Amino acid sequence: MTDPAKLEPTAFLPHARGDMADRVRRHDWAATPLGAPETWPDSLLALVEILLACNEPRFLAWGPRRIMVYNDHYAPLCGSKHPAALGQPFAEVWADILDDVGPIMERAYGGEAVHMDDIMFTMRDRNGYPEETHFAFSYIPVHGRTGEVSGMLCTCRETTDAVLTQRLLSFQLRLGDVLRSIADPDEVKRVAVRLLAEELALGQVGYGEIGADGRAVTQTSHGDGSLPPSRGTPRSPADMPTTLAALGSGARVALHDLDRETGPIAAEVAATSRDSGARAFAALPLVKHGRLVAYLYLANRTPRRWSERELELAAEVAERTWAAIERASTESALRRTRERLAATLDAADISTWDYDVGSDHLLPDDNLASLCGLCGVSQGGRDQLESFIACTHPDDREPLRQRLRQALEQGQDWRSEHRVLQQGGGHRWVVAHGRVERDAAGRALRMPGVLVDITDRKRAEEALQEADRRKDDFLATLAHELRNPLAPIRSAARISSDPSATLQQLRWSHEVIERQVRNMALLLDDLLDVSRITRGILEVRKTPTAAASIVEAALEAARPVLAARKHKLELDIDPEPLHVDADPLRMAQALSNLLTNAAKYTDPGGTVRLSARRERDALVIRVSDSGIGIAPSSLERIFAMFSQVEPALERSEGGLGIGLALVKGIMELHGGTVRAQSAGLGRGSEFVLSLPGVQVGTLSAADHQPASAAAATPLRVALADDNVDGAETLAALLELDGYEVRIAHDGLAALELVRSYRPDAVFLDIGMPGLNGYEVARQLREEQAPGEPAPVLVALTGWGGAGDKQRALDAGFDKHLTKPVDPDALLDILTEAAASRQGLAA
Ligand code: ADP
Repeated sequence: MTDPAKLEPTAFLPHARGDMADRVRRHDWAATPLGAPETWPDSLLALVEILLACNEPRFLAWGPRRIMVYNDHYAPLCGSKHPAALGQPFAEVWADILDDVGPIMERAYGGEAVHMDDIMFTMRDRNGYPEETHFAFSYIPVHGRTGEVSGMLCTCRETTDAVLTQRLLSFQLRLGDVLRSIADPDEVKRVAVRLLAEELALGQVGYGEIGADGRAVTQTSHGDGSLPPSRGTPRSPADMPTTLAALGSGARVALHDLDRETGPIAAEVAATSRDSGARAFAALPLVKHGRLVAYLYLANRTPRRWSERELELAAEVAERTWAAIERASTESALRRTRERLAATLDAADISTWDYDVGSDHLLPDDNLASLCGLCGVSQGGRDQLESFIACTHPDDREPLRQRLRQALEQGQDWRSEHRVLQQGGGHRWVVAHGRVERDAAGRALRMPGVLVDITDRKRAEEALQEADRRKDDFLATLAHELRNPLAPIRSAARISSDPSATLQQLRWSHEVIERQVRNMALLLDDLLDVSRITRGILEVRKTPTAAASIVEAALEAARPVLAARKHKLELDIDPEPLHVDADPLRMAQALSNLLTNAAKYTDPGGTVRLSARRERDALVIRVSDSGIGIAPSSLERIFAMFSQVEPALERSEGGLGIGLALVKGIMELHGGTVRAQSAGLGRGSEFVLSLPGVQVGTLSAADHQPASAAAATPLRVALADDNVDGAETLAALLELDGYEVRIAHDGLAALELVRSYRPDAVFLDIGMPGLNGYEVARQLREEQAPGEPAPVLVALTGWGGAGDKQRALDAGFDKHLTKPVDPDALLDILTEAAASRQGLAA
């Protein structure tokens, strides 16, 4: 038997190969609790030999002190602890992870085989910096002859790489998903830096963008609070020119411990980040088309070994963030453009569509879908071209179909103005434009187009045409109305100038002329009034007026025509004395218009009914007749200027079509209304005047204004001008208007005339023989007796300067008119004079 102590050293593990085999053989085991190899039990020797031959990481812990022996594959796992770990107690070698690994070792020494697929250790000194590591291993107890545990064998594998790679991959997936759903570019940055900071458990992560001028544009960062902002955040590369230059050249910056790193970049980062308390710093560039467009930086409060994997991940995050921002910016720009376009199209009543020729699919936008909704062009859906055509008015369908067919065949642009049917009836006018897009062979592929709602324009055009037509009708009627009286006047004039005419013939001819001239004057009065209403210058002078006096005055005016047509007149007047605040003349004018119409538009021998009653707080006057009636469709129209209904036109009684417009205008000026009703053509009509604010009670004599008072005693006018023709025409004009006029041709005659005639108004030419106008005026003012009504004095001159006006006023004139005199101005002065005369009378 060989004494083990006598064994040659070469006989110790003679077959083992490799670095660890050499080290085990050379190790001074005698100085360890295992003792010299010669004293080792066979089991230990055998296990060591197997261990060294294994091509996977293995170690053996032996004896109560758990002395370590390990193979070549385990050595790298030990990092800086190798080779010193050989022959050392397990608890000393792995002191930094003993809290985690110690209990497992105890279980193995307790005789239990322990298997672990993944266990995580944070190793602090394996590589000189803390690191997260992962392992899969089995601890197998080795029993001695008597059953006690002599040691344990460990087979293990470090899985750190696989675990971290897996984790980073899943982070990337999550990041991709999250970023994809964000529409706001700023939110993209905020989320990306937050997720990365959380994933890597970092003090701070920031993303900065660099403008075309090389300066930082924006920076977004997220911190966990370990680098308090009060002490200054780690400065970004934007504040570090050297670092920025390095990033610009595409280099990464990774500084594990700012207190130990050397070199210009480390010095710059350390200097700028000192006050923030950062100890580790890394930055990654994002270079596009040779230009640094963005960077991502990582900072930590404690030193940190930036692994290649982490830097790779950070670079990847920078890239994804940039791409997501680009996408979000493009999308939001696109969205804004779309919204703007939609708003513009909406505001302009424009619809669009896109038609795919091959599939016969028409894609309408929302506007088109709602415009054509009725006819099957569905919202957001697809339709055929025929459903688009089906939306149009039946009369427009065939022309549109032809136009589309021709455009598709010849590849031409097309345009169509047509009507689109609407829900609930009616239609809207549109103009549609389409453009045909063709392939290289000339075949039509698509046909996008727009459609503009032009209904308002069309309606305006129609209204204009209608107004134009009414104007033409009016002119024709006016010519007719003016010519009508000419024939009798001409015959009467011839008779009266015939020396052989009898006295009876002469009287007849004068009556004819007077009647015809009165008719013409009435016609012209109405015309002038209507023109005043449209120009907004017709005035109503409201005074307390008895309803009865309005009715009386109107009847007085209408009676001749009622009588001429042999109508029966029925009256229904409220027994209560009613009065209203109204212009008696204008109200009588409105009512007499209605009565005259009733007479005109009722065949001779009909019935005209007039009722005046209080209905709640309004005076309601109704004029109904048994006449030709009015079609329901015309009821609104008849109040428009120059409007006449067909059957009325055919009647010889037709007027100018302004009477009802005048009635409406007068009622509106009084705050009242007029409306018409009729059961239909041939069934009579009823016109209702309604005037609010009716009062019950008799008016005092002072209040009472007979509506026909002014008409009964016409205003007296004296006119002095040495131009005989001028004076006479002006007089004629005033007489036509119902005024009583006397003429003088020089100053003295004028004085005489005023003294004897006592006119209400005096028109004096200034340049007259004898006394001039100023002298006459002065004289008249001097003769004026106190308390006696003074006439209105009006100067007529060829000079209209401010000085001339003043001179006239100084001479005692009330007004000053420049020649040629504007008849309207003259009439206005007289209307005013009439009003003040009424005022005096009251
Ligand atoms: P004018 O009588 O000069 O034609 P109006 O403005 O007074 O003009 O009336 C407008 C139109 O209204 C008339 O042309 C006629 O067609 C219709 N109209 C007015 N009054 C009656 C009525 N009492 N009965 C039937 N139609 C009427």
